[in-house]
Amino acid sequence: YMRRGLERNEFILHYQPKQDLASGNLNGVEALVRWQHPQRGLVDPDQFIPLAEETGLIVDLGRRIIDLACAQIADWRHAGLALPRVAINVSGVQLIGTQLVTDLRRALSEHDIPASLLELEITESGLMNDLKTARDILRELKSMGLSIAIDDFGTGYSSLSYLDMLPLNKVKIDRSFVRDLTKDAKKLKLLRGVVHLARELGLEVVVEGVETEDQLHMISDNNCADIIQGYIFGTPMPHG
Ligand code: C2E
Ligand code: CA
Ligand code: CA
Repeated sequence: YMRRGLERNEFILHYQPKQDLASGNLNGVEALVRWQHPQRGLVDPDQFIPLAEETGLIVDLGRRIIDLACAQIADWRHAGLALPRVAINVSGVQLIGTQLVTDLRRALSEHDIPASLLELEITESGLMNDLKTARDILRELKSMGLSIAIDDFGTGYSSLSYLDMLPLNKVKIDRSFVRDLTKDAKKLKLLRGVVHLARELGLEVVVEGVETEDQLHMISDNNCADIIQGYIFGTPMPHG
């Protein structure tokens, strides 16, 4: 019945800011989908994205999300606002064997916006099955001018082969590295190691899930991020 929700335009996007750690400037926003369900109210993506991935509905839902994000960028543009780059979440299953490149090209030209205003955050699900295809598709998207980030880095199975194979701009380190940062000395060591690895490869580092001043200081004192995201700066909010 998710399909019906799609037909009834019940899916909306919230936007969460990302901040440049050194300058404090707005770096961009991440689009996060919500289901405005007539009975259940606002439903979080964890409750329906996995099912959408299983059933394949993620392809149609993903297309809608791309369209909503591009429409929002066009609105901001017409309102004369300084345009932040908008990151869209794309799961592995959505990347491989779908019309993602075509869908993105069409949405960009329909809404008349430059590809450089879009970033894709790629999550692992379904990715490891066909890393070579994923690499080819991402190469094409990158050559169009989109920025590519790997999401939830440091979880799952084959993270290091992603760094090796995929044409990335950014690494977004999983929230679990931040969660106990101020309580568990091992977490800082892990975080520093991952950050070092990403920078060795010339990638920008995004740290998400930053909630407290203590976490922020620890990250900043240890030079562990280029870009920061989390409730400390802003929660996902509707816009437009
Ligand atoms: P994600 O991409 O890792 O997104 C970050 C999640 O962390 C978001 O949850 C956000 O609301 C939450 N968050 C942000 N700052 C903080 C913080 O400081 N502390 C804590 N504890 N949480 C924070 P949300 O919006 O419920 O999204 C959950 C997941 O659903 C996302 O994780 C992403 O994997 C997936 N998702 C969301 N929107 C989309 C979408 O449009 N397409 C696809 N394929 N997946 C999506
Ligand atoms: Ca994300
Ligand atoms: Ca994440």
